[in-house]
Amino acid sequence: MTLDLMAKLADSDPKIAELVEAEGRRQFEKIRLIPSENYVSRAVLEATGTVLTNKYSEGYAGRRYYEGQQLIDQVETLAIDRVKSLFGVEHVNVQPYSGSPANLAIYLAFLQPGDTVMGMALPMGGHLTHGWSVSATGKWFRSVQYEVVRETGRVDMDAVRELALKERPKLIFCGGTAIPRTIDFEAFASIAAEVDALLAADIAHIAGLVAGGAHPSPVGHAPVISTTTHKTLRGPRGAMLMSDADHAKALDRAVFPGLQGGPHNHTTAAIAVAAAEAATEEFKTYAHQIVANAKALADALNARGFSLVSGGTDNHLILVDLTSKDIAGKPAAKALDRAGIELNYNTVPYDTRKPFDPSGIRIGTPAVTTRGMAPEHMPQIAAWMDDAVEAAKKDDGDALDRIGAEVREFTKAFPIPGWSA
Ligand SMILES: *Cc1c(COP(=O)(O)O)cnc(C)c1O
Repeated sequence: MTLDLMAKLADSDPKIAELVEAEGRRQFEKIRLIPSENYVSRAVLEATGTVLTNKYSEGYAGRRYYEGQQLIDQVETLAIDRVKSLFGVEHVNVQPYSGSPANLAIYLAFLQPGDTVMGMALPMGGHLTHGWSVSATGKWFRSVQYEVVRETGRVDMDAVRELALKERPKLIFCGGTAIPRTIDFEAFASIAAEVDALLAADIAHIAGLVAGGAHPSPVGHAPVISTTTHKTLRGPRGAMLMSDADHAKALDRAVFPGLQGGPHNHTTAAIAVAAAEAATEEFKTYAHQIVANAKALADALNARGFSLVSGGTDNHLILVDLTSKDIAGKPAAKALDRAGIELNYNTVPYDTRKPFDPSGIRIGTPAVTTRGMAPEHMPQIAAWMDDAVEAAKKDDGDALDRIGAEVREFTKAFPIPGWSA
């Protein structure tokens, strides 16, 4: 059944309401392992569905271009203050529409077109916006990319330093989308200092772990920090830029008027709600449980002969190279989805296959942990994954459907906010 706040939608637009309802059921019945996804709280859902969406607020609190900001200014200021205290930063901008525009704002604030940026290569676990060739950041800037070591699957900080000394980047990004190991912010900071580069930590994936004390914080090491709000942080779809006082003005000007128009005030409200939730003891427990679940899942997959990039995980994310299982990432991901286990196919470092049909899958535990799944449940999930991969290799659709039915039965014990069966 859908949220009661959808009663009107069901009446006025039954087609869309029906699709939303079906998506709610899909999210309830599947084991969702995409590491960038989560289930937000009922309060966050409600905040995103408010009248705040009706208001234009170009500018910043106290300096707006439209009248009627008496209450919006308070919402945005609350969001900023809560995030400042959550992460212990001097400056916060909650207006970026999403993670990619937030990163673009960093370039606009501190680089000129053609300047050199250094980031982790996309196939190694970096993000498109860290200078990858198909992204605007790779087209408009000179980009140099660091990798992971083939044998260990980990970043070699000496190699990063060498590349930085040779290429003299003006901006260095650390962080990424498929990094199963702890990011050494301190080592990145010392390299940035040595070559006089600005260090930007992109903690989109791990922001919730940082907030909950389950991953070291970049604060004090990276003067500029970008993050999405909707991944482990468990807020609405959106992003934030955080910085020390020295970088505050340039970042604000880059977001508005540099890149964006009016902020999405309903999202800002939901960020405020999520930041308050993330400051609780409960959320600390959640963040640590994400990591405990990921370790348990990694152990169980290892025991079943799956090959994990870097051998395991320190955080919420596991990258699996399926070469040893004799199946490619895409057919495995499709079969697993049919079996009720949702994940994404992913390039693994030094992949010999093409990006659209790579060798790996990427999984993570933020969403299942929100539902209350615990380390004791992880061996069962690994067993289903193993069975589904074997079924896929035999093209055994019936076996996949049987697993899917078991998964549906299993997930009934783990409610999700905003939708009930
Ligand atoms: C998800 C992600 C982004 C981009 O976020 P979008 O909201 O999808 O634009 C940027 N950087 C990293 C490291 C991410 O994981």
